[in-house]
Amino acid sequence: MNRFYVLPEFINENIIMITGQDVNHVKNVLRLKPEDELVCFDGKGTEYLCSITSIEKDLVKTRIISSKKADTEPAVKITLVQALPKSSKMDYIIQKAVELGVHKIIPVSTERTIAKGTKLERWKKIAKEASEQCGRAIIPEVSLTMNFNEFLCMSMNFDLKLIPWENEKQISLKSVLKKHSDAQNIALLIGPEGGFSAQEVKEAVEQGFKPVSLGKRILRAETAGVAAIAMITYEIS
Ligand code: SAH
Repeated sequence: MNRFYVLPEFINENIIMITGQDVNHVKNVLRLKPEDELVCFDGKGTEYLCSITSIEKDLVKTRIISSKKADTEPAVKITLVQALPKSSKMDYIIQKAVELGVHKIIPVSTERTIAKGTKLERWKKIAKEASEQCGRAIIPEVSLTMNFNEFLCMSMNFDLKLIPWENEKQISLKSVLKKHSDAQNIALLIGPEGGFSAQEVKEAVEQGFKPVSLGKRILRAETAGVAAIAMITYEIS
């Protein structure tokens, strides 16, 4: 079933309006017609089964047939704090992290970050489309890029803070998750292609981050976060 994220102001008692670029998608890509059904979701946990009543130039009107609470959110909220990788790798990371259930994504610049410029609007669009496609009840927020220290200073509200680090040979992600199986709000800090500097790991540890190993092989920047999110949601569910 085709799913569309709609802003709350377009949801009335029994009518939902689809606007913006989604209108083109309904008309010209999916070629839907009046009476066809689709699903709209409000990003706050409710989804609506709707039937199209009219298709106009900039607007698709639908009638709500039924609504229900979506149950596609994981039990644990994971915030992926991703050091900016080069080229378009961030697009991939955002798409996959959203599919795997990430709660929020914070891009950060670190000592060894090479990437210049951020593409916030593009990243938000990728998060929206991934959420629509995979059946999420929310659209994970992609925040403005922060620098590493700025993030550390405001990282107090997590109940588990993880910094996967390829030089951590003893403590596995699994062993830490076993000890913190009641964690509800996890920060996951992933480095860029060049990794974190020893100084950055030290500063993160001072702020309560636990260095963990993701295994015996070194994962690429675009693999590490995605793999870790899958491991965490598997372990804590
Ligand atoms: N340039 C580094 C690797 C960086 S990989 C080197 O060659 O040694 C990018 C990021 O992925 C790292 O900063 C770390 O956060 C994560 N990562 C990759 N492999 C990992 C592993 N085996 N264990 C823990 N973290 C890992």
